[in-house]
Amino acid sequence: MYREIHNTAEDMVFAQVTETYAALEEQGSDICACRQCRLDTACYVLNRMAPRYILSNRGVARIERQAREHQQTRADIAALIHEGIKRVSHNRRPTADHIDGDLQRPDSRPVFNIPTIVGRLFNGLNFEPLSGVRVTLYREGAPVTMKDSNWQNPYDLVPSIQGTYTFWPASVSANTAGIHRVFEFSVKIEAPDFEPLDHFFSIPVASDLQPAPSFSMDRTFKLPDLYLFPPGEAEQNDNSERGELNPRLSVPKTDGLTTGPLSGGLSSISVGRRAVNY
Ligand SMILES: [Zn+2]
Repeated sequence: MYREIHNTAEDMVFAQVTETYAALEEQGSDICACRQCRLDTACYVLNRMAPRYILSNRGVARIERQAREHQQTRADIAALIHEGIKRVSHNRRPTADHIDGDLQRPDSRPVFNIPTIVGRLFNGLNFEPLSGVRVTLYREGAPVTMKDSNWQNPYDLVPSIQGTYTFWPASVSANTAGIHRVFEFSVKIEAPDFEPLDHFFSIPVASDLQPAPSFSMDRTFKLPDLYLFPPGEAEQNDNSERGELNPRLSVPKTDGLTTGPLSGGLSSISVGRRAVNY
């Protein structure tokens, strides 16, 4: 379903991680450059930068734009890679043997591989990406355990990631491969000057023979963009835009999938604002 969407940030990061490790090896560094450590570093970096999605069949225009942005991006990625290498080499996976070659897969057991979950948060008043926001992923009333320590939950948005948050939930055991199950999640979004927001969603997953070894584009679940508003601001905006004489009558009822005033691309707002009233 999502295979036609490609995150070009992955290509840039994987290429640059490979270059960086090669350069370190050439300098005689004793930092482990095994495949597992390189993947961990790549995940560390990808987890802290905005994804750059293209539809694989119309990527050309986007790639041209990226060429212009490329210079700055490389510098940002380089800084993140150095942070990532430091962190990965200080927290070596005890279960990996750190020799080059294929990833270690000590546990070959059927699991539901939950995809990585990606979304963006904006200020509903000026449409700027948000930072200083805490996003927590929940399932069955509790924060979800992440795949490993390179992924955080709750996730705190810093300015350099342009309102993007990502989660990679730990896989869930299955009795056998090929079972279909729907997993219900919610993200709770909290920021000092905004109304908190809960967004509910479900992800259908078919179980696999073994845990997914690495971050993969085929396993990304993209949430709709979400917009936060300061308390009370959303209603005021709706009314002033439509010039209603009696604002009380025109406030959309929070009955869930509101249409009309909040239509089209903004419909995810009403999903979130309904949840606020729980
Ligand atoms: Zn290693």
